Amino acid sequence: MAANCIFCKIIKGDIPSMKVFESDKTLAFLDINPLSYGHTLIIPKHHGAKLTDIPEEHLTELLPIASRIAKASGAENYNVLQNNGRLAHQEVDHVHFHLIPKPNETEGLGIKWPMQ
Ligand code: 5GP
Repeated sequence: MAANCIFCKIIKGDIPSMKVFESDKTLAFLDINPLSYGHTLIIPKHHGAKLTDIPEEHLTELLPIASRIAKASGAENYNVLQNNGRLAHQEVDHVHFHLIPKPNETEGLGIKWPMQ
């Protein structure tokens, strides 16, 4: 945990969030400023700014959980991305994967949310 980290405060419950998934190693919650409906952040509970700062054993769940959430949402089109460093557009210095559903131009998002 890092004292001044927003995402560590979310993990501790000091800052509220809309949780999508939680395990002992991982938390997923809705982005406060979503790029689309259902935009979700998936983070390791272990604090580290960049992917290379996190021990591998704390990274193993992240993509399987992104996959599980994407499946449960029903989204047919989505991006999974992860930024490291300011030049790579990282704003929050705690590793996070974005899961961003893409609206279908004719049918809208078509996703089931919140997860059932
Ligand atoms: P980055 O640019 O670092 O990859 O993305 C950081 C993301 O964190 C942004 O999409 C931003 O909206 C989100 N974010 C920043 N502060 C908070 C917060 O307090 N709560 C939640 N749920 N999301 C946040």
